[in-house]
Amino acid sequence: MDTSTWVLCAIALSGFMAYNRASLSTFTLSFAAILALGTFFDVISFFSWLFFALCAIPLNITDVRKQYISQPLLTLFKGIMPEMSRTEKEAIDAGTTWFEAELFRGSPDWKKLHNYPQPRLSAEEQAFLNGPVEEVCRLTDDWHTTHERADLSPEVWQYLKDNKFFAMIIKKQYGGLEFCAYAQSRVLQKLSGVSTVLASTVGVPNSLGPGELLQHYGTKQQQDHYLPRLAKGEEIPCFALTSPEAGSDAGAIPDFGIVCHGEFEGEQVLGMKLTWNKRYITLAPIATVLGLAFKLKDPQHLIGEEVELGITCALIPTDIEGVITGRRHFPLNVPFQNGPTQGNEVFVPLDFIIGGAEMAGQGWRMLVECLSVGRAITLPSNSAGGIKSLALATGAYSRIRRQFKLPIGKMEGVEEPLARIGGNAYLMDAVTTMSTGAIDLGEKPSVVSAISKYHLTEKLRTCINDAMDVHGGKAICMGKSNYLARGYQGAPVAITVEGANILTRSMIIYGQGAIRCHPYVLAELEAANNNDENQALNDFDHALFGHVGFAISNIFRSFWFSFTGSRLLSSPYKDETARYYQLMTRFSSNLAMLSDIAMLTLGGDLKRKERISARLGDILSYLYLTSATLKRFNDEGRQHADLPLVQWAAEDSLYRAQLAIDELLTNFPNKIVAISLRAVIFPLGTWLSKPSDILDHQVATILQSPSDARTRLGQGQYLTADKENLLGQLEQTLAKIIACEPSFNKVCRAMGEKLPFQQLDKVAEKGLALNVINELEAQLLTEAEQSRLAAINVDDFDSDELISASFNKIQVN
Ligand SMILES: Cc1cc2nc3c(=O)[nH]c(=O)nc-3n(C[C@H](O)[C@H](O)[C@H](O)COP(=O)(O)OP(=O)(O)OC[C@H]3O[C@@H](n4cnc5c(N)ncnc54)[C@H](O)[C@@H]3O)c2cc1C
Repeated sequence: MDTSTWVLCAIALSGFMAYNRASLSTFTLSFAAILALGTFFDVISFFSWLFFALCAIPLNITDVRKQYISQPLLTLFKGIMPEMSRTEKEAIDAGTTWFEAELFRGSPDWKKLHNYPQPRLSAEEQAFLNGPVEEVCRLTDDWHTTHERADLSPEVWQYLKDNKFFAMIIKKQYGGLEFCAYAQSRVLQKLSGVSTVLASTVGVPNSLGPGELLQHYGTKQQQDHYLPRLAKGEEIPCFALTSPEAGSDAGAIPDFGIVCHGEFEGEQVLGMKLTWNKRYITLAPIATVLGLAFKLKDPQHLIGEEVELGITCALIPTDIEGVITGRRHFPLNVPFQNGPTQGNEVFVPLDFIIGGAEMAGQGWRMLVECLSVGRAITLPSNSAGGIKSLALATGAYSRIRRQFKLPIGKMEGVEEPLARIGGNAYLMDAVTTMSTGAIDLGEKPSVVSAISKYHLTEKLRTCINDAMDVHGGKAICMGKSNYLARGYQGAPVAITVEGANILTRSMIIYGQGAIRCHPYVLAELEAANNNDENQALNDFDHALFGHVGFAISNIFRSFWFSFTGSRLLSSPYKDETARYYQLMTRFSSNLAMLSDIAMLTLGGDLKRKERISARLGDILSYLYLTSATLKRFNDEGRQHADLPLVQWAAEDSLYRAQLAIDELLTNFPNKIVAISLRAVIFPLGTWLSKPSDILDHQVATILQSPSDARTRLGQGQYLTADKENLLGQLEQTLAKIIACEPSFNKVCRAMGEKLPFQQLDKVAEKGLALNVINELEAQLLTEAEQSRLAAINVDDFDSDELISASFNKIQVN
């Protein structure tokens, strides 16, 4: 063996060890073995052994390593560690990590992904969807709700209460439905396809609010009192956190309570005087019980030593004197019940604190824990339901509406937005299914919920714009026959609530992801905060050396995947999806490497470098979205007809992941580091592109003609052919248009000209006269014409009808 062969062997061995994340001792022993080989063949000198000994001995003798390496680094780490507020710490501690941790750590286990059970509905949940959900969809008239009443009708309200729509999360023992998260998601999806007001009204009591908080933290007495009443709809809950001065920075609420003695219902009790001014509170105008977050102070030490007890949550009946509710905000023409509430020195007993007096100061922890679950259900499901309905509607409309003698959906320009809608509809359903599935497995996936909330609400906003463009004037003129405009108007509501999206992307996804999903960072932070110096050093030493090995491994893996194009990686399926698994593993390694290098070079500044953090979060998010897509494809039996949808969703997400890495490197503050990282990750430049025009065409085609793939895309939505159900009508029209096309073509052929696809009743008459179609075909053409006109027509009004009812009233008075 000559020297160069030995060097190559040494590099290959180091690479193999790094790739497989070998432990320090295995690494040391293997290196000793390769040195011995070099000595045997006389290709290395004594100095190589000396250098090896100088490195290996201090690293492998724990006491030496701790004293001379870990201790100084721990001291340095404490100095540069970003300060964490109590609320930030509680947010980090809340919730659990799930599959996103695999994606963060550079070597995802695809078997694990596919082994998670596919969420399923119980017979009772399915019956609820087929029965009460279907019925309330039938009862809801969205135009009447949004334009005429500015509220759901009394009939719909009563139906919702009677059928326990507000009690999906409440346990059966209290009279609730106790549905799994997946079932809740399916209910909300169906409702949101019909009316945003309906979906929001049902979503909120089942999300973060009194019901959820009581079940987790309430005293038995509170649970026994409130939960059965909430289940029956006898109480309407709301939850008030946001104040005019504290929106995103909700931990800074100025609302407060002072512990004191006072009189309540004729008795002297220990209680608190509450002062608050809240806004934007959903259901507040009609709520009977107000969940309230405020900062509790105990200046007279009536319940303990501490004066500033911190954020506390209490339940306040709204009929108590001094509680002000009733006024309404008007959120973007989607008038669900939402408004402000105030109270000034309202005295209530300490028992009103959720969980009793001992839960004083625990409010923030309670909220973030519940939010890590709720954020994955309500808004992502409303968005997924919205896009599924609009995928069917836009697809059908594109086939029905013709210009230049062609269905508009056949025009390449229209195919592009159609494909975006179709691919995202497949992906968004996949994401809600996977994320709610995690909750049903017992997880409180805080990072997954932030990813789902951010990306699904953003995607809906993009796709509803696409749907508006494809519909043209049909979507702009409002009225009973417009099924898009209210969704379009209301899209920013979901962007803003439960953590506004810019903040969620810039701070929450990666901020929590980095600390929660990284295998060593949390342990390092905890060690640095540990007052027991011995324990701190032990823990830090353990985490630090694990971290170093992990970082080296990810650098090597990233380099190797670039060198091989990640084509040597195995993937669980050897079909059209195989490449996506390889690319995901590659990007996952890149993310792990970039993340460590960003933390190492930016330290505490990373928290303030929101755009770096946002892009790291984007990489993680797109890997999660792709995983969910591939899991759905597998869970649904790898349906070949769905492949264009799967490919579009995966290719769009992976392209965006690449873009996030590219932009991150372009904007990385340390240019030398950035150039080195680019050389490792993109030695030949970026190479992934957006889904191709051919793929766009395939997806657009799926949206425009009935098929199993299209049915799966819209599964669970309200499509019943009811006279008032615009989407159901549109589906019928699509079927009629397609069914009558052969007869239409026969007439055209007989006449020797390509007729415009309109006045089909007249075409039917011509066909009969020419004796080329029969009565049945003529009838089909005539019916298709009626339905076609209903689909393309818009509403018009007398001027008086458009003047608001209250303005009319003022004029009369
Ligand atoms: C219709 C509606 C219903 C609601 N329902 C409820 C309810 O039931 N109960 C309740 O308590 N609250 C409710 N909210 C309040 C909602 O949660 C807040 O609106 C939200 O937290 C954002 O606060 P803000 O609107 O004051 O925006 P601001 O906090 O003023 O934020 C403005 C912008 O700045 C961005 N931003 C803020 N900080 C950062 C940061 N550090 N980094 C990057 N970007 C940042 C935000 O992302 C946002 O884009 C509701 C709001 C609306 C509009």
